[in-house]
Amino acid sequence: MSTQKKLRVATTSLAGCFGCHMSFLDIDERLIDLLELVEFDRSPLNDIKRCGTQGPIDLGLIEGGVCNAENVLVLREFRKNCKILVAMGACAINGGLPAQRNHLDLRSILEAVYETEGGLARGTRIPNDPELPLPLNKVHPIHEVVKIDYFLPGCPPSADAIWQFLTDLLAGRTPHLGHGLLHYD
Ligand code: SF4
Repeated sequence: MSTQKKLRVATTSLAGCFGCHMSFLDIDERLIDLLELVEFDRSPLNDIKRCGTQGPIDLGLIEGGVCNAENVLVLREFRKNCKILVAMGACAINGGLPAQRNHLDLRSILEAVYETEGGLARGTRIPNDPELPLPLNKVHPIHEVVKIDYFLPGCPPSADAIWQFLTDLLAGRTPHLGHGLLHYD
């Protein structure tokens, strides 16, 4: 086992589908090599769900765009604590699928889903529990809220692209996704 100090990594999903995290897990047995070099702080990969990270983080990976007030808080917390912050996947980079709602009025969407016959069960109302984060009028890419150091495109980025990206960064190189790894779909 290496005696080198491990880098601390945190990840989170904002307005995303967890597909980018599933792709991360698809690096399969290479995770064991990765765990020689890094330790995970807050991440869905280790089921730690608290809002903030545990102190300084070397590398933060964000999946998903910003669609509600809680996303803004979590994203700012990551930016404050992460030396390097990465937008992972199309939703983080440009809003992705959730941003399809941006050309519609938010109130009209909620009414259509909760209060019309074609929506959910009869008698449902638009939820207004104070515990629910307030939705934003638009879904935003994360670079519109905080500074981002790297963009890792794809929906999702492939496991090989994530692996290449991480191994470049961990080796102190500027990440370079060669032919076949860089895609936007
Ligand atoms: Fe899911 Fe694609 Fe968005 Fe990743 S980029 S969170 S896979 S929809």
